[in-house]
This record gives sequence, C-alpha cells and structure tokens, in this order.
Amino acid sequence: MKTIIYLDNNATTQIAPEVLEVMVPLLRDGYGNPSSGYSLGRQAASALEQARAQVSALAGCREDEIIFTSCGTESINTAILSALSLDPDKKHIVTTTVEHSATIKLCEHLAQRGYEITWLPVDSSGLLDLDRLASAIRPDTALVTLLWANNETGVLFPVNDIAEIVKQKKTLLHVDAVQAFGKLPLTLADAGIHFLSASGHKIHAAKGVGALYINRRVKFTPLLRGSQEKGRRGGTQNLASIAGFGKAAKLAAEHLGSRQILDWRNAFEDHMLSTVPGCSVNGDRTQRLPNTTNLSFDGIESEGALILLDESGLCCSAGSACTSGSIHPSHVLKAMGFSNERARASLRFSFGRYNSAGDLARACELVPMMVAKLRELSPAGSPVIAA
Ligand code: PLP
Repeated sequence: MKTIIYLDNNATTQIAPEVLEVMVPLLRDGYGNPSSGYSLGRQAASALEQARAQVSALAGCREDEIIFTSCGTESINTAILSALSLDPDKKHIVTTTVEHSATIKLCEHLAQRGYEITWLPVDSSGLLDLDRLASAIRPDTALVTLLWANNETGVLFPVNDIAEIVKQKKTLLHVDAVQAFGKLPLTLADAGIHFLSASGHKIHAAKGVGALYINRRVKFTPLLRGSQEKGRRGGTQNLASIAGFGKAAKLAAEHLGSRQILDWRNAFEDHMLSTVPGCSVNGDRTQRLPNTTNLSFDGIESEGALILLDESGLCCSAGSACTSGSIHPSHVLKAMGFSNERARASLRFSFGRYNSAGDLARACELVPMMVAKLRELSPAGSPVIAA
C-alpha cells in the first residue's frame, strides 16, 4: 500500500488508537443501553457520563450544558432552530457569507419560510467588520450564528468580541466551533455564548458523533424529541462513539499546549512561499487556526493538482467543489473577493498530530513538483508571475 501523507485534517481525522481502545470493548461487550437499569445499562450510562465530563472539560463548561448529537451538522441545526422557536415574532437571523454549508443550507431554507437573513460580508483576509455586525442586529433578530474558525482558510472570528456585541444587543449567539474545538483553548463559562457546536471526527474520534453546548440559562427546544439526554435529544445514544469522543476530547486537551502542528504548518507555508513563484496565502495569517494553510498557485487548476498529488499519496482539498460534473469555486474564497481563477487555483492543507517531519519534507518536495508539472502542461505555458 502506498504511504499516505494526510494533510486534510479539516475534512476529517484518523481515529486515535486510544479512542479505538475505548470504543472496541463497548461495541463488543458493553452493548447495554444507557437507559436500562441493570448493571450492563448502568455501565453504559457511566461511560456516557464520563464522556460528558471529558467534553465539557475541553469546552470549559458544566457537564449538564453538553448534549450529544449525531454530528456537527445536527448540533448546528438544533441550535439555530431552538433559538428561533423562543420567540416566533423574531424572524431575522444574522450570519456570514463564509459559513459551512450546514448553516448556509438551513438559512436558505429558513429564508424560503419567511425568515430574513443578513449575510455579513468578509474582507479580503476573511475577517468581519464588527461595527457592521453590531448594526445588523435589530430588535427582531432571533439569533446571530457564525463560525469560530473557517474550515477552508482557518481564519478565526473574534468570538469574545462578538459575544460582547451580541450581549449588548440582547439577542442569542450560536458559534459553529466544529473546526476550533480541540484546536484552541476554550472557556465557555461566562463567555456570553448561548450555543456552541462541535464534532467528534475533527478531533480523532469517529464520524457520526457531535456535541452541542447549551448555556444553562437559555430556554431550549429539542430537534429530536424523546427521553434521552434529559429530554433534550431523543434517540438511544451512540455509546461507543460518544465514549470515544470523550477520550478524544481528553487527548485534545493534553495536546493543546503543543506547538508541533503550528511549526509544521508554518514550515510548509514558508517553504511554498519562498520556493514556488506565484504562490500566495488566502486569508489572514495571524487570526488563524494553527493547523491550516490555504494557498493559491497562479496558473494551476486545483482539480488537476488533487489528481497529481493523490498519485503521490498526498491528500489535501481544493478551493472548489465538483457537483454533477461542474466545478464551483469555493464560496469562501469568492466571498473574500477572489476571482474564479484564483479560487480554482487554491488548495487547502490542514495538518494534524499524526503527521510527521517526514510528511512535511515529502509535501515540501511534492507540491512544488506538482505545480511545475501543471504549469508545463497548461495550454498557455508557464503563467506570467507578478513580482
Ligand atoms: N461546521 C464546520 C466549520 C465544519 O468544518 C464541518 C465539517 O466539515 C461541519 C460544520 C459539519 O460537521 P459534521 O461533519 O460533523 O456534520
């Protein structure tokens, strides 16, 4: 099998061996339902509560403020719909143009159901104008919902400042922290955030498990009704994945202080900028996740780049998505004001703790080779590179 250089950790991550060690015995032997009263069920309930303690410790909140869901997308849908159900007369939502599709698709759907959505723009660095955010909030605003860390560029929104604005305007705030959770320190107690969404598979747990933080002072309406999670999320819990998520949260907390991922990302980015002409970073370089770099390479097409890199075993993402045969440039890069051409010439590399110095060295070799090859093949020949 060819060696994989996995630089797509914002898409998903490999399950940590310690997480698997927690999951496998639960799948094999610990199959009790956490709601059952006999000992097999009580053991399951205790594994569930241990995971809740671990996830809430990473979030810096109380254990009773965390519910488990099936994914980040479910958490986002739950938070937004719960906020809207609080006051049916409030029909306005503030969000941004660079959200994940989970938020965009729901807001588009709500717009068809009579809600008014304010889509806040970002500047060419991917940052928000906070005055504009403040003036977008109206008396009929039910909710402000936005990302903490952008999945494509890694650019961070200043959630503490945003929470202060939202507090003054007396509305609710939901933060999509799916990419930030476990990568940045977080203390939700008294942060002024009402809802926060997280997902297991971005932090070396399994796919199909998420968490939602619900501030204890907020009135909550469940999306899935049933008795589990104290009536806040019906459905028998995905115990093994939740227990694995708890372990992954504990491991993430232990790794939060490490600079390793940041050092690899910076070394890779510096190498690309200094050795590949026509390479630029998309997005603010300081307000950014430590693991992500989104780079454009003049004169290449990301689809071709992904094929060549895949042949060499390197996994990363394109700044565009292919749907039914047509290529759409990334809405995030477009919102930052980039041309279709630049968006299509962009690649996202996202590092994780299972990378190695060898991966970094190999990526530093492969990517410039791929760019040179594509430029050679391009009908126009090598592009004119601005100095
Ligand atoms: N929000 C962001 C910022 C994400 O990056 C993702 C996943 O890519 C999601 C939400 C959705 O999370 P999940 O895959 O757990 O539904």
